[in-house]
Amino acid sequence: MTAAVRDADANGTEDMILLFTDTLIEDKDLYRFMIESAGYLFGLPKPLHLISRCDGIPDVNTDMLARRAYLSELAADTTGYIPALRWISDGRDPWEVFWDRRWIGNSRIAQCSEELKQKISRQWVKERHKPDETVIYVGIDWTETHRVAGIERGWSPYRVIAPMTERPYLYKTDMLNDLKRYGIKAPRLYDMGFAHNNCGGFCVRGGQGHFINLLKNNRDLYLYHESKELEMQEYLGRTDVTILTRTVKGVEHTLTLRELREEWDNGLGLQVDLLDIGGCGCYV
Ligand code: SF4
Repeated sequence: MTAAVRDADANGTEDMILLFTDTLIEDKDLYRFMIESAGYLFGLPKPLHLISRCDGIPDVNTDMLARRAYLSELAADTTGYIPALRWISDGRDPWEVFWDRRWIGNSRIAQCSEELKQKISRQWVKERHKPDETVIYVGIDWTETHRVAGIERGWSPYRVIAPMTERPYLYKTDMLNDLKRYGIKAPRLYDMGFAHNNCGGFCVRGGQGHFINLLKNNRDLYLYHESKELEMQEYLGRTDVTILTRTVKGVEHTLTLRELREEWDNGLGLQVDLLDIGGCGCYV
């Protein structure tokens, strides 16, 4: 949001397009935040009629089919109201990508990010906008400059600008505070202690601490992802493939979400590395 505001302040919004690649498992409040922010950026009256529908998005862990249908209608109505916001989706969620690619994503290989974010956004831009008349703006900030080269490489020959890597340097807390000035509530996942607002608090690039935070904040959703991981292991016929790993005395071991939860529930939290948060880096 702050990156888009920075660009809007410098260049206006006449030629601006906001591109959202939906993984279909985002937090309900991410959709609210995105709609509210896009409306603000384009100077539209607060889209209360759309915002109020976000709370009713069916939960990932209860009914994915109903959720897809709901999101598809919400996306159509949102882009009808805010045409410069393009809401696209590959049609699959991360677990469906893992199924198709026959591998569970982890901190080293995240096929979900590749398929649901990188490929689809590049394809969408390539089909509509020429490199010599398009600039790609990304929202990473000055603490993530190590990601810039990868993003530039990925988008070449398009020019890439990351406004938040430039002065004045702002911390995430500054950016979240800025939202108050715009009258927009910060996404709730930050209040729940998540380091990012992607995939509803799930992320195969997250670490043990990240998943314990999900367990504490939304046990049902954790249990859903726990069961999907076991389902994948069964499908692959392998137990040596997991999202998480743990290194003990220099040897790396797999760690299923079930094992992690059972340790936590049984009071063995001391062996869980709560500082192992991991990161998303979806567009790298
Ligand atoms: S946030 Fe994590 S789980 Fe979601 S698409 Fe990105 S890498 Fe995959």
